[in-house]
Amino acid sequence: MIKKIKGTNDIIPAQFTDDIFAVEKWQFIENVIRECTLVYGYSEIRTPVFENTELFIHGLGDITDIVTKEMFTFEDRGERSLTLRPEGTASVVRSLLENSLHRKQQINRLFYIGPMFRAERPQKGRYRQFHQCGVENIGDSSTQADIEVIALFWTILHKLGLNNIELVINSVGCPVCRPVYNRVLKEFFADKLEHLCSDCNERYEKNILRMLDCKNEKCQHILNDAPDIQGSLCDDCSGAYHRIKQQLTAIDIPFATSSRLVRGLDYYTQTAFEFIHNGIGAQATVAGGGRYDGLVESTGGPSLPAVGAAFGIERLLLAMEAEEINIPEPAAPVFYLVIFDSDFEEEALRLCYQMRSKESYVELGAAGRAVGKQLKSASKSGAHYAVFIGGEEWQDGYVLIKDLVETKQYKISREGVTSEILLNWFENKK
Ligand code: AMP
Repeated sequence: MIKKIKGTNDIIPAQFTDDIFAVEKWQFIENVIRECTLVYGYSEIRTPVFENTELFIHGLGDITDIVTKEMFTFEDRGERSLTLRPEGTASVVRSLLENSLHRKQQINRLFYIGPMFRAERPQKGRYRQFHQCGVENIGDSSTQADIEVIALFWTILHKLGLNNIELVINSVGCPVCRPVYNRVLKEFFADKLEHLCSDCNERYEKNILRMLDCKNEKCQHILNDAPDIQGSLCDDCSGAYHRIKQQLTAIDIPFATSSRLVRGLDYYTQTAFEFIHNGIGAQATVAGGGRYDGLVESTGGPSLPAVGAAFGIERLLLAMEAEEINIPEPAAPVFYLVIFDSDFEEEALRLCYQMRSKESYVELGAAGRAVGKQLKSASKSGAHYAVFIGGEEWQDGYVLIKDLVETKQYKISREGVTSEILLNWFENKK
């Protein structure tokens, strides 16, 4: 049998699985996302799952881990290099520019939900096809926009019932002050390189800020002693960072600060933040984001400020599992039509079709299957009422209705029985 590809997952009905890949859990999260993004004024955007490779190399930075090691890149039949999107922001920015959204509206608030692809080593919370929900606020340079994005995520996390999430923030500076900090780091690490891992040594040459992101045990004591970026921030950046902290405090969103938080992608400027859950193993970052004021311009558009964030749906589900949060039970059928024998099949089909057209959730037994077995299926489906089409009562001019929840039964005249009669009967029972 052909199996699914390593690092990918099937998302199947909850009746067949109680792990995080039960589709009802996904639908629950997606509904919460839609409710919350709506009240924050964010509209959905859907972009293709593959793009020209150039978009990601350019947008994410050609020395980031994603671009150097993790992209699923292939050539199409016309020998063009295409890549399955490893993240959403570069595509949203491309689409914004290509559709001139920025000319039609000064500030664009957009969100997306969809699969992303990275060739990482699969483990719990890390997959090759995973799913992100991301939000982007493009066109607003004020810290109000940063706060809006953080507050939107905070709202979603709390609406899902998550309580043990920690928000960590930092500022990564801007093209004016980051080079100053890079020089400070260069000097600090210059005589310590032999004690640091090979990744750190490579980053020292190519992208020194990212050294702070190293998770290697043996590097930690050196990295922890590295000078803070705060001392190098320009007035603009340190002012913005101060306002972010003040405004988060004003709206009662608790946070911690960490000068080691630098995020994996090149395009971040000023605010960087992560939401961490400590109960889900090594892959503890549930969401990450920040400001990316240079990306729109470097993608070929005008200079537009922007801030955004994304969370992984799988990691959210792991966090919900760790906090033992249950989602509401899925809806059960109201009626289950039990068919006595195939002579009644058409009558049952007619009723069933009419009721479903009126948006009543109805299940239909299989004509020819024993009545007892159909009743068992009715109970298993969680249906409230079993409606007998055929049988003794039917001969006597009635429809027998069994209340499977309260184990009562009712009879209504079957003379010209229609979906209206059944549905009215049900309305009167409520
Ligand atoms: P990033 O785009 O790397 O900032 O990631 C944002 C969020 O996406 C992370 O906090 C995770 O929740 C999720 N994520 C990133 N990579 C993976 C992956 N390989 N598997 C599952 N979730 C991921």
